[in-house]
Amino acid sequence: MELTSGSRVAVIGGGPSGALSAYFLLDLARQTGIALEVDLFEPRNFNLTGPPGCNMCGGVISESLMQKMAAEGITLPRELLLDTIDSYVLHTDSGAASIRPLHDEMRIASIFRGAGPLGAESQSPLPWSSFDRHLLEMAKGLGARHHARRVRRLDRDGEGRPRVYVQPLKEEAAESGETERLFGVYDLLIGCVGLNGAGVRLFEALDFGYRPPKSDRAWVAELYMGAEEVRRRLGHAMHIFLLDVPGMKFAALTPKGHYVTFILLGDDVNEEVAKRVCHSPQVRELFPEGWEMPVRPCHCQPRINIGPPVNPFADRVVLVGDCASSRLYKDGIGAAYRMAKVCALTALTRGISAEAFREGYWPACQEMDRDNRLGHLLFSMDGLMRHVTLFRRAMLMVVREEQSRPHDPRRLSSALWDTFTGSAAYRHIFRRALHPVVMWRLIAAMIRLLFSFLRKR
Ligand SMILES: Cc1cc2nc3c(=O)[nH]c(=O)nc-3n(C[C@H](O)[C@H](O)[C@H](O)COP(=O)(O)OP(=O)(O)OC[C@H]3O[C@@H](n4cnc5c(N)ncnc54)[C@H](O)[C@@H]3O)c2cc1C
Repeated sequence: MELTSGSRVAVIGGGPSGALSAYFLLDLARQTGIALEVDLFEPRNFNLTGPPGCNMCGGVISESLMQKMAAEGITLPRELLLDTIDSYVLHTDSGAASIRPLHDEMRIASIFRGAGPLGAESQSPLPWSSFDRHLLEMAKGLGARHHARRVRRLDRDGEGRPRVYVQPLKEEAAESGETERLFGVYDLLIGCVGLNGAGVRLFEALDFGYRPPKSDRAWVAELYMGAEEVRRRLGHAMHIFLLDVPGMKFAALTPKGHYVTFILLGDDVNEEVAKRVCHSPQVRELFPEGWEMPVRPCHCQPRINIGPPVNPFADRVVLVGDCASSRLYKDGIGAAYRMAKVCALTALTRGISAEAFREGYWPACQEMDRDNRLGHLLFSMDGLMRHVTLFRRAMLMVVREEQSRPHDPRRLSSALWDTFTGSAAYRHIFRRALHPVVMWRLIAAMIRLLFSFLRKR
């Protein structure tokens, strides 16, 4: 089972994993002299503002990912990049610490996935452009055919080739009364449907044993503050909050030009929890005097991948991105980039059978899933940080000391930086966070804090 000239590929979903899967497949095929036909199905219009045009995320990408993409010819024009973030400020109930990366290439940038927040359409023309649209245009530039249609059903023909049925256009439905229409028969089907919506059910219904990954709901809002005020209050820093607010795991404020993106993660986050976090003194001091959460902010509650998928491949079918393996709580775009590339390489060099995907694609998924298990362990320690004041204070003390020494290797600071930016694998973060020097500094800081507490009594 192989792709040869004239083979037809359907990519379902045009978010980062869909656009990049199509891009890498066409690019590698061209390099090996194979002419593929790639149909990419994506109904979302990335020119629209607000949730309808947006694939709902924090919109942070690392400098190292931008460099990797540039090496593949995927350059990001200036109008995509809203802010360059060169530091983190970690806010806790016991104070704050600013964290700068050791090297410039560890900086991060913020982007809008769609055309921007709801209401921004009043600024015409918009001073920025959509990240997802850019990736889609790059795939189209290599020959992918974009169909602005929702896929309604999948099945296989008598020879086992996947068939794609789409939602008919209004005029087609009015004329024929059909609710779905057979669009085509394909040699390979790549599912990049994410986790927000019913896309994964299409693949579950194909009955090859696929189960989507476990997911949590997040709460995201784009808050307008004006570029000057954003710069004055947040600077070029991302602000992370590890507070003892019931329901929240962590919250973040990211500067994006005129806007600030507010992200909230937790077990059951909703507007109530968001309001409680916004009313905490640590968040309030970053907002203008008297600022209140708008009555109807541009907000969404997207799903975030927190577990491994089951069986994300079969003969002629493979799933990529959030609906398969991604990175826990961070760098989902980087994960989509990496897995789209491995998937394309597997399809073109090993073939498109289940066996080929098991040997070429699955090991990369498993490696990411194994690393995420360490990530879960690391995030379970955030409870220690949020609830044990002594540990929290000691950690802030060590971070401040590291940041004040110009030649310090800053192991704890860089472990925290990478935890929130996704610039490194969890296993590397773990090694740095558990380094004997870090452990010793933390214990010494806790002893010093205990002594100063006892002296005061
Ligand atoms: C709160 C939050 C914050 C995040 N922050 C970041 C961050 O700062 N940086 C980062 O790198 N990652 C972040 N992520 C993760 C990132 O958003 C995802 O990893 C990334 O979007 C995955 O891309 P994808 O293409 O797999 O899925 P998506 O981006 O979800 O794209 C799926 C696409 O499939 C289309 N689709 C679905 N069903 C159908 C169908 N039936 N027919 C046709 N098309 C269909 C959808 O319209 C959509 O465009 C965050 C996620 C969340 C939830």
